[in-house]
This record gives sequence, structure tokens and C-alpha cells, in this order.
Amino acid sequence: MIAEPGKGRSIGCRCRTRKEIAMSIIRQIAQLGQPVLREVAKRIERPGDPAVQSLIDDLLVTVADANGVGIAAPQVFVSLSLFIVASRSNPRYPNAPDMEPVAMINPELIWASSDKEKGWEGCLSIPGLRGVVPRHTRIGVRYQTRKGEVREEEYSHFLARVFQHEFDHVQGVVFIDRVESTRELVTEKEYLRLVSA
Ligand SMILES: [Zn+2]
Repeated sequence: MIAEPGKGRSIGCRCRTRKEIAMSIIRQIAQLGQPVLREVAKRIERPGDPAVQSLIDDLLVTVADANGVGIAAPQVFVSLSLFIVASRSNPRYPNAPDMEPVAMINPELIWASSDKEKGWEGCLSIPGLRGVVPRHTRIGVRYQTRKGEVREEEYSHFLARVFQHEFDHVQGVVFIDRVESTRELVTEKEYLRLVSA
């Protein structure tokens, strides 16, 4: 989600050693038009599977390299129900909470507020485009951690937006499907002009 130009960020994670991080691979990102972005991703039966763990490590370095705040497995051509939420504050989202990146396996939306709010989104799979997307303001979610533990959390505003954007990806939906009018789509260049005005 939401590609942010700017300084790269360390990919430090308490759960991995330096050697393991060095072995992670920046994966190619599927661009809009690739069928994998339109598939419903499969449930992960064994989160501890080494292939799943490697995929998580690769997603972590890929999203950091791309200056994103989230990335879903289908975006790297793997149709599994898994994504990373990696929010951080930056010049264009000064109120975005800083958080340790979290891998969410088999995510579920348990409840959602009836009220929605609109906000700008972009997508690593749809470079050069930004759009205004309505999202539930508050949500309750459930997912499995990379250790297979079940977690339930509540998110609001920006984090709720990131989750909903990534949750869409594992169902074959992208943000441009959610804009209410094509008039609320702009180029990245014009978006940068808008937010810096
Ligand atoms: Zn996206």
C-alpha cells in the first residue's frame, strides 16, 4: 500500500538475526493486470512452514525497500492469505503511528464501524496513481502471527485503512475498485503537488 518516496528504513525486527535478514530477498512486485492480484488467496494451514517464514522475511524487506506501509503476498505473486502491516510516520502521513512491522496470517475482519472516512491511498502494484477511498473508521480483526498464535486487535483511522487495503488484496480487490468516482483518482505527480500545497 501507499508507496512513500523518501529515506529507506532499517528493517530491524527483534525476531530475526542479522544473518537471517541478510538472506531475505527483495521480491518483484506484481503490477495491475497480473491475474494473481485478482485471485482469492488461499488459507495458510501451517504458518510455521519454512516457505511461509521465508515469504514473511522477503515481504518485510520488500515493503521496506519500496517505502510502503503494507504489502500482501499476492503482490509478490504468492496467492496466500498473508500480509504485512508496517505503518510509520513520514512527511505525508505525519500522524501515522510508528509500529514494528506485523505479519498477519489468515486475517479476518470481525466487525467494522458503520461510519466510514475518506483518505488517500496508493498501491505498490499500481504505481503512479492515487485515489480517495472510503474505509471503515474502526475495525476489529483476527489473524495468526508468524508463530501461529491467534491475535485479536482493534484498529482505527490510518491503521484500519492499511488493514482494509491489504485485506482487500487477499480477496483479489484493489483500491481503485473502491473509489466512488474516477474523478477522485489523480496521478502521483499531481497528488504530490496537492499535498505539498
Ligand atoms: Zn496495495
